[in-house]
Amino acid sequence: MCATCGCGEDQATITAMSATKSGHDELGHHHAHDHPHPHTETITLEQKVLAKNDLLAEHNRQSLAERGILALNVTSSPGAGKTTLLERTIRELGGDCPVAVIEGDQETLLDAQRIEAAGARAVQVNTGAGCHLDADMVHRALHALNPEPKSVLFIENVGNLVCPALFDLGEYSKVVVISVTEGQDKPLKYPHMFAAAGLVLINKIDLVPYVSFDLDTCFGYARSVNPDVQILPISATTGEGLDAWYDWIRSKISVLANPA
Ligand code: MG
Repeated sequence: MCATCGCGEDQATITAMSATKSGHDELGHHHAHDHPHPHTETITLEQKVLAKNDLLAEHNRQSLAERGILALNVTSSPGAGKTTLLERTIRELGGDCPVAVIEGDQETLLDAQRIEAAGARAVQVNTGAGCHLDADMVHRALHALNPEPKSVLFIENVGNLVCPALFDLGEYSKVVVISVTEGQDKPLKYPHMFAAAGLVLINKIDLVPYVSFDLDTCFGYARSVNPDVQILPISATTGEGLDAWYDWIRSKISVLANPA
């Protein structure tokens, strides 16, 4: 049971997808022959106490920084378009640098399968009754994934604008995605998530003519809880605004490669 939010968190299951089977067995976790599916490996984890989260997150952060890996914790409510955005980003940015993804969902391997089909290595974390990823799940997933040095690592969190705000995973930055179909008041209703964000993406802007959503009002709400946050309107479907998203990622890669 999660001590912070009370969600069930007795165990999480991590499945390394087939594209991760590239000779990274030195980390010594369960091998494919332990699992009925030849291309997956499953690790069942016992719950770690919440109090250890920040320490583990810092361990993750240092380990990622030592390898020059840009880790972005992507959060949103369910259906905002995180996976669609990552699929397109992999296709359009993957030529610049290696991309890997840790997928978080309560159940199914569906999103990790989509990520693999888009051309990136993926590990799926299934949280069961849990409503968020924590630093321990990401730590174990990192050992299963073993992302390449100088790569971009997207951590797609469980769809939820509440609890993921509280759990540092060791990421470089949190990227919050909201979509215009959800309503412009999300930053006011879920201020902790928006206050923790390094970037806010407003997705599905191709649907603005059909819904009651005012971009400027949403910008104002987001800045009322996080005055300096960058906000980019995008459409992961049409591609509008995505060049600015890729430029933001490249700027962070550059900062990571050339620390002050
Ligand atoms: Mg998803």
